[in-house]
Amino acid sequence: MTRTAIVSVGNELLYGQTVDTNAAWLGRTLTPLGLRVVRRYTVADVDMEIREAVGRAMEVADLVLVTGGLGPTPDDRTKGAIASGFGRELVESEEAREGVRSYLRVGQADVPDRLHSQTTIPAGAEVLRNQRGTAPGLLLEERGRWVVLLPGVPGELRGIVADVLVPRLRDRGWVTGAAHHFIVHTTGCPESTLAEQVEQLRAGVEPSVLEGIDLAYLPDETGVDLRFTVDDEDPQRARERFEALEEVLTPAWAPFVFEAASGDLAEALLHALRAARATVAVAESCTGGLVGKRLTDHAGSSDVVLGGVIAYADEVKVRDLGVPPALIAEHGAVSEPVARAMAEGAARHFGATASIALTGIAGPGGGSAEKPVGTVWAATSLGGAVDAFVGHFTGDRHGVRARAAQAAMASLYRRLLRS
Ligand code: AMP
Ligand code: MG
Repeated sequence: MTRTAIVSVGNELLYGQTVDTNAAWLGRTLTPLGLRVVRRYTVADVDMEIREAVGRAMEVADLVLVTGGLGPTPDDRTKGAIASGFGRELVESEEAREGVRSYLRVGQADVPDRLHSQTTIPAGAEVLRNQRGTAPGLLLEERGRWVVLLPGVPGELRGIVADVLVPRLRDRGWVTGAAHHFIVHTTGCPESTLAEQVEQLRAGVEPSVLEGIDLAYLPDETGVDLRFTVDDEDPQRARERFEALEEVLTPAWAPFVFEAASGDLAEALLHALRAARATVAVAESCTGGLVGKRLTDHAGSSDVVLGGVIAYADEVKVRDLGVPPALIAEHGAVSEPVARAMAEGAARHFGATASIALTGIAGPGGGSAEKPVGTVWAATSLGGAVDAFVGHFTGDRHGVRARAAQAAMASLYRRLLRS
């Protein structure tokens, strides 16, 4: 695994005006090729800072990718800073000039003065042709390490990496295709609890099975992904090694796991509904249609999703879902009987074999001691049988709604798997 470091250059990155998508893209693109990104640095458009970061990066990595600061304006410092850091002159490059000319499609000797800086390179550098802009990529070899300068404009950087740099890395023997990711999606179990259960099982696994397999826990508001990274040049063998470990660890996540290429539980739920030849309808109060939206985000959902009611007002719960007004008067709109009646009403109204209903308090207002913000009753019906549960969800309004929608979908999904 070739140790790789990324140096992102640009004041705008430090100010937070531009998100460093280049570094993320480089990591995503290079890791599966067998290059291990071990460190990232972000620095200002200042010569000293750039030189210092590149120097440090070269202490920990064989390949150093520098992005940004290659433009023709005075605030673009990278090329000059690196050249002087390595004690190299900036020299005219016919190849760089040719690249600018061909990008601009101008005739001989016609590179305008304002772009002149784009045709100079640190002495001895290799030009990596940029077909999408005027700043060429540059490759410098120093003490056996490669320092590669790439433009900050994302499309230009990506083009150079894909068209020119990856083939050069391949020639160098650095592309081994040695890291493969396998992702296990879970929902409904907090990260720390899940990790505790996984680590207990992992402690009992033969070291030879674990070797070269990295595990990362990646939580978001709807669940936790477990990402296994297997170091192995052979994809088939990598898969087998993952599966050997998965078999031992599965009990830790079995009650929470779902399978979906997109990573979205809604996709898994649609599969399960389809497999059961079921149709589904939704009745949503506090989530305002979020479950319906999530399900219909997936193309082809029309074969199982029939429709829904955004039953935000009590009158709508009564009129369109047939919730008895007495239930609301006695128990309140956020209650088990009302959630159940909403699920039954949705299934009946749309003629669906399954349904999901939600009623709760998303906040920030509307909570009480008895029913604080985050209290959500959810009910699912399947083949006429209704299940209900209450969730106490954390987070702001957005978080409560996202978690409640997810929990309700998970509930129906688990019922379908059991049925
Ligand atoms: P530069 O090569 O520094 O002149 O950057 C040109 C433009 O590319 C900037 O104005 C940003 O919009 C964008 N950019 C620079 N660095 C990055 C980065 N690390 N990630 C995403 N966009 C960037
Ligand atoms: Mg810049």
